[in-house]
Amino acid sequence: MFIGHFAAGIAFKGVDRQVPLWALLVAVQLVDIATMIFVLIGIERLDIVPGFTKYNDFDMFMPFTHSLVMTPVWAAIGAALYWLYDRQASRAALLTIAAAVACHWFLDLIVHVPDLPILLSEDWKVGFGLWNMPLVTVLIEASMLTLALLIYRRSRDPRFAINRIILGAICVIFYLFVIQPFIMPLPVANTQEAAITGLAAFLIVPLMGYFAERRLR
Ligand SMILES: [Zn+2]
Repeated sequence: MFIGHFAAGIAFKGVDRQVPLWALLVAVQLVDIATMIFVLIGIERLDIVPGFTKYNDFDMFMPFTHSLVMTPVWAAIGAALYWLYDRQASRAALLTIAAAVACHWFLDLIVHVPDLPILLSEDWKVGFGLWNMPLVTVLIEASMLTLALLIYRRSRDPRFAINRIILGAICVIFYLFVIQPFIMPLPVANTQEAAITGLAAFLIVPLMGYFAERRLR
């Protein structure tokens, strides 16, 4: 899951408009950001195995970032980082950030093949494997994005308005990305390229979220 996580960030913005969109877009991908860094420094593993799933070629070993037992730890790290950014943050805002971080594992559970460890060991790994049903994956991610936008729209609050043009651009890019495997399959990357491309996306999307709100401050 990729865009589905960002969709969760938009939905959380609808739930708590006080938390900046950029922070939520970082929070929902915090463990993937950590994975990419850990892969680059050799703590976790991302092997490119052509045909590993029907949706992508990622064979992953990531117990420190993507195990159920570490999920509350990452949620606490996310909330702590946000508190360092905003010492005045309300308890509700910190809980929203923690929930945004924690939901990542449960969304990954839907699409990953059984490579998500429960503990830090290799013994128990789970994943419903929808990546082997690409059309279903695309439908789920597109539906999540649509649902997130509906949740966001329903919670209209003029104090925390957003630049609709930038938000619209973000959504168009997201929808295109969701259907990308069908319209323009990407060439197989190597591990380094995949990790660096991922990190670039995790930087660019929150930046767009930042500018979507900054224009109105
Ligand atoms: Zn993930």
